[in-house]
Amino acid sequence: MTITTTNDQSTSTLMTTEVLIIGAGPAGSACAISLQKAGVDCIVADKAAFPRFKLCGGLITQKGQDCLREVLGNDAYEQCMEVCVRGREQYFALWDECKRIVRVKLDNNIVLIDRPTMDNWLVQHYKSLGGRIMEGNGVKSIDFAAHVAVLESGEEVSYKKLVAADGVHSPVAHMLADADKRYKLNKKGCFCLEVFVDEKDCDIEDVNIHFNLVPNFYTWAFKKGNQVAIGLGKLTTDKIDIKEVLIDYMKRMGVRQGAEQASAPIRGAVIPSEVRQAEWKSADVLFAGDAGGFVELLTYEGIYYAIRSGSYAAQSIISGTSYTQLVRPMHRKMQYGSFFQKFIYWKPFLNIMCKYGSTHGAFIAKFYADNIDNIPSKPLWKQIAIVLMKTVRVAVKRK
Ligand SMILES: Cc1cc2nc3c(=O)[nH]c(=O)nc-3n(C[C@H](O)[C@H](O)[C@H](O)COP(=O)(O)OP(=O)(O)OC[C@H]3O[C@@H](n4cnc5c(N)ncnc54)[C@H](O)[C@@H]3O)c2cc1C
Repeated sequence: MTITTTNDQSTSTLMTTEVLIIGAGPAGSACAISLQKAGVDCIVADKAAFPRFKLCGGLITQKGQDCLREVLGNDAYEQCMEVCVRGREQYFALWDECKRIVRVKLDNNIVLIDRPTMDNWLVQHYKSLGGRIMEGNGVKSIDFAAHVAVLESGEEVSYKKLVAADGVHSPVAHMLADADKRYKLNKKGCFCLEVFVDEKDCDIEDVNIHFNLVPNFYTWAFKKGNQVAIGLGKLTTDKIDIKEVLIDYMKRMGVRQGAEQASAPIRGAVIPSEVRQAEWKSADVLFAGDAGGFVELLTYEGIYYAIRSGSYAAQSIISGTSYTQLVRPMHRKMQYGSFFQKFIYWKPFLNIMCKYGSTHGAFIAKFYADNIDNIPSKPLWKQIAIVLMKTVRVAVKRK
């Protein structure tokens, strides 16, 4: 419903909706499409007009593909993949600096999509279902008590539930922190750089993950259509110049000289790196995707988490089930990831793992394959314990 009120100074438009979704990335779109399909009235507002650029490798694991299929339904999912997929990959290789530790064949295909194309496809699909969206119209301020958001255009939206799917820097979270001092803003993240070079300038195969080139993170390189995506990250607290490391890495990956200038520019963006508050009940706000800190804290996979949390936000609104309860398994996996992250990137452990992995490839393969699609099964814990014991033994011997 839209009401226009006029007084001597200004004209303002007030729209009303059940659910206002801020942000139309995969989290916002997954939520909007799910609500629209269930007949729940919603409005999406995004500061950008679509198609818009989004820095992302575009690697989607099997669980991400399954989740998107669940949200879209079979036919729409196939149409989406036809438009957005730039490549499929079944192998990934783990490297210790420039020495390959293991090459793993996954049971399932990883798909490599073009993010701007996928995000635009999801927005157009939502519109085709009759969904309402305000593009190029970001949220400017929110009165959380009155449940009214003011957009950049000056339009006001009155809502019952607010879904904040507005990315890692979440303006909604900042506004909530200003409005309610009990709400703790969590800004911990990893800063990533990524560049896309033409495939003719770099011959590589597999999805490649390199350890030991940057502390507390990894570097990646994989072919995607006629491009090769190359990138790396660092904790925002680590003081290293990752641009220099990236340029050196490009050379090591065999990117032909001069290609780095000729190709698309090196761009940077942040990924959240800590579990964040998912719900703020007193203000009826649900956080989804990066805004809610939903990423895999071991591999930094974010697309699956965005779609999953967005669809859970919708499910919670539709069925009345607690959102906190729905996202609990994801939070558990993130806590597990956050715990293992400390070991995986701890140099002595990493060195042993690389050494052990080259002779026990099946262990590393299982560890990573399980982490990509699941939580490690019990026997794997035993193997992790073996690696830990070996680490301790080496550390003691050195002393
Ligand atoms: C370099 C890099 C590479 C990555 N590679 C991968 C990968 O290969 N695989 C993977 O799974 N994950 C990857 N990720 C992570 C993944 O990109 C994110 O987790 C994912 O984009 C989160 O989706 P989202 O919908 O939560 O947020 P976003 O996609 O960031 O969408 C947020 C939306 O909110 C909008 N918005 C922001 N402010 C406002 C406002 N004030 N008002 C209205 N709208 C607003 C933005 O315009 C945007 O459209 C990568 C991340 C980086 C940085």
